[in-house]
Amino acid sequence: MKRILAAVGCVCVLLMSGCGDSPRSRQTVALDTSCAVTIYDGEDALLDECMAHLRAREALWSKTVATSDIATLNKSGTAVVDDDTAALLIAAKSFSETTDGAFDITTASLVTLWDNAEKEGVIPDKEAIAAALACVGGDNMIVDGNAVTLLDGAEVDLGGIAKGAIADELAAMLKDGGCESALIDLGGNIVALGDKHGEPFHIGIADPQNSDKLALTIAVSDKAVVTSGSYERGYDIDGTHYSHIIDPQTGYPVKNDLLSVTIVCPSATTADALSTACFVKGYKGAKALLSHYPEAEAVFILSDSTIETTKGIDVV
Ligand code: ADP
Ligand code: MG
Repeated sequence: MKRILAAVGCVCVLLMSGCGDSPRSRQTVALDTSCAVTIYDGEDALLDECMAHLRAREALWSKTVATSDIATLNKSGTAVVDDDTAALLIAAKSFSETTDGAFDITTASLVTLWDNAEKEGVIPDKEAIAAALACVGGDNMIVDGNAVTLLDGAEVDLGGIAKGAIADELAAMLKDGGCESALIDLGGNIVALGDKHGEPFHIGIADPQNSDKLALTIAVSDKAVVTSGSYERGYDIDGTHYSHIIDPQTGYPVKNDLLSVTIVCPSATTADALSTACFVKGYKGAKALLSHYPEAEAVFILSDSTIETTKGIDVV
């Protein structure tokens, strides 16, 4: 059996050779991360469509593309956005409600503040954190049809949900195009579409303390697998490690008993938002949150290196 370590990021995909169509892949860098799509059946043209869709979504949803819906909204505080942007903003707002604000796209002001801290190597002062915190809150974004308004100086950042949403869109496009077996990996936001020649896909979850190694491998079919953790995109200032995920309640990067959370569920959008929210909440809070999402299974890697899985996780 041939094993190819395929994807980068927090999660990697173990592709094993088998009978039937041989896999075909396309890779690119988009949305500030490595993206790969592999199909096991269907036409090659589907891969081109996926790559084009990634580019189109980056143009619409990246906060660093000046003409995107998100950059326009953040700049003016109000904008008329694309139907799909409005739908994603509404979904994001609803996750802010169901996660008690642990996942909140208006955390953007704090994200910008801490991104600058990373660049300059100096942590923000308390006043700057308090000022950014004052802009955060799900109620600060009003979506009325395609018209979006941000209140109290709020900004939005789709970094915690867009890759999951786009992975769901790519899976739907592939399915509509007649593909029944594929792997989509947008920087560790994975969708395993169908299965592979009748067997589940094997997805490796990285060891947060040594991302060259796997902590465990799980078997999934027709599911999204999304990981949030502090190790992959975290940074150090004066010998202290900081996460790129911010606790919207304190204004500081998350530091708790979790090193990573992986969510396995049918929707990659849900898995993306929940993995971020669970990481913010810590192990106990995450378990309580997930009790409201019976379709979601989870793998927790705790700071003492222990691994906890919910009962529907199929460890290989
Ligand atoms: P990754 O993007 O590394 O896969 P996540 O899905 O957890 O990881 O998203 C982290 C990104 O989401 C950050 O880089 C930032 O843009 C944004 N973000 C940070 N904290 C929060 C939060 N509490 N709620 C929503 N988005 C957040
Ligand atoms: Mg996320």
